[in-house]
Amino acid sequence: MFENSLEFAQQLDRNNDLKDFRNEFIIPQHNGKDAIYFLGNSLGLQPKRTAKFIQQVLDQWSNHGVEGFFRGNQPWMKYHEQLTKTLSKIVGASPGEVVVMNQLTVNLHLMLASFYEPQGRRKKILCEAKAFPSDQYMLHSHVKQRGWDPDEIIIEVAPRENESLVRAEDILSAIEQNKNEIVLVFFGGVNYYTGQVFNMQKISKSAHDIGAKAGFDLAHAAANISLELHDWDVDFACWCSYKYLNSGPGAIGGCFIHERYHDDPSLNRFAGWWGNKKEKQFLMQKEFEPELSAEGWQLSTPSPLLYAMHNASLQIFEEAGVENVFKANQSLNDYLWFVLEDVKTQTPNNDLQIITPKQKNEKGCQISMVVNNGKKVFDYLSENGVYADWREPNVIRIAPVALYNSFEEVWRFAQILKSAINQYCQ
Ligand SMILES: *Cc1c(COP(=O)(O)O)cnc(C)c1O
Repeated sequence: MFENSLEFAQQLDRNNDLKDFRNEFIIPQHNGKDAIYFLGNSLGLQPKRTAKFIQQVLDQWSNHGVEGFFRGNQPWMKYHEQLTKTLSKIVGASPGEVVVMNQLTVNLHLMLASFYEPQGRRKKILCEAKAFPSDQYMLHSHVKQRGWDPDEIIIEVAPRENESLVRAEDILSAIEQNKNEIVLVFFGGVNYYTGQVFNMQKISKSAHDIGAKAGFDLAHAAANISLELHDWDVDFACWCSYKYLNSGPGAIGGCFIHERYHDDPSLNRFAGWWGNKKEKQFLMQKEFEPELSAEGWQLSTPSPLLYAMHNASLQIFEEAGVENVFKANQSLNDYLWFVLEDVKTQTPNNDLQIITPKQKNEKGCQISMVVNNGKKVFDYLSENGVYADWREPNVIRIAPVALYNSFEEVWRFAQILKSAINQYCQ
């Protein structure tokens, strides 16, 4: 079992097969020392090799001009093939089911154009209450542009009174209760606020059982937890790659589209020349003929600079082994739970409550906690070199990740949190 001590944490670090990957990242500094960066769920840290990868694209441009798309060491037309090879392992798909393009909210709009297909009274969307604001705006705009009222069309599943998590059975019963009206079930894979992991396989199955489609926003799931999108029979999913995927601010996004749709002419889609069949893309023909893979949903010329930033990070996942990363993420989180529960027992006034589920399969890297006098505690953490995240009205979120955080940092964090609580709560 675990111990809440520095020696024990250091022992865990010594036994960690992924410990050397920390050297692949640039760690922000605080008073001349490594800060404790627990914001892998917000903006993942910069791999040291990113600058080199960007430089290679600039060199390709210097050396070849526009011919950089077709020749040189890394022709841009084929650059994405390296990306989808690793990404498909990260999300549990075949490479043809994954496309790297645009950004998250943009991709969600494109997916809704294809997968929100109201028919008669079957036109409702089921989603989680308090989804990330951009997801809510996105759903609302698809309903409004059809002239309908979002309050009538969108059904939200919320936690029960005095609870902070959505119960799995409540999601499934909401689907069942509205079975003749729901056409799309759209959920986060991991809720951004609570860190709760939803059972995507069960949600997809229940959606399909009533004749609806199932899509997921994986912003907080991709590269955090193990995913099997293809086998879970998910219809579509989108994610960003600046969070757990460490590909930099405004990084290029990704999409999964199940292969059964790749050659389905009945599906609507917004088309652009970059989604056209590759061999005919430059024939400049009038008719759009989609590439028969997820790439058929691309619109515009992608930025090789963003590809390069993504590639730098994905290469590290490939070297570490994606399943190893997921396993190590869970171990780090188990230890975080342990030390936080120890802090809790030492803070008698119930000043610290963890709202993230503790069960395996329901948690990833993140822990969200409600702390009395939370803003003061949060400021104290920041002053002491901890990067955490404050969400109104009273939640502190942290997400140590296995690729660049250590067990020792988790232990140190708990010590700092305990001082903060002693100072501001009692
Ligand atoms: C981070 C996040 C977003 C951000 O969307 P962008 O289009 O990348 O700005 C959207 N949805 C969720 C659930 C997120 O966590």
